Amino acid sequence: MQIILRNIMEDYVIVILDRILDNLDCCKCEKCRLDIASYALNRLPSKYVATTQGELMTKLCEFDNGFETQVMASLTLAANVIKKNPKHDVTDER
Ligand SMILES: [Zn+2]
Repeated sequence: MQIILRNIMEDYVIVILDRILDNLDCCKCEKCRLDIASYALNRLPSKYVATTQGELMTKLCEFDNGFETQVMASLTLAANVIKKNPKHDVTDER
């Protein structure tokens, strides 16, 4: 079985972002979605694990709730920043 090295914070941020995206007051295009994710990721600690692809989701579930709050706060902050400085023309929105 192939073992991969992976920053699961990246997966975690995407999971949480998709969950709260509808509640965020910002552009929801793919560009902004990924800008929000990268902004948050640059401000969160990375968390590397050596795992198999199949075990990845199990590892994601091991994050505790306190951490979820921290990730959500970073994403909300990121959404506000991206909203004020979208990296595309405003007319492109949606
Ligand atoms: Zn956008």
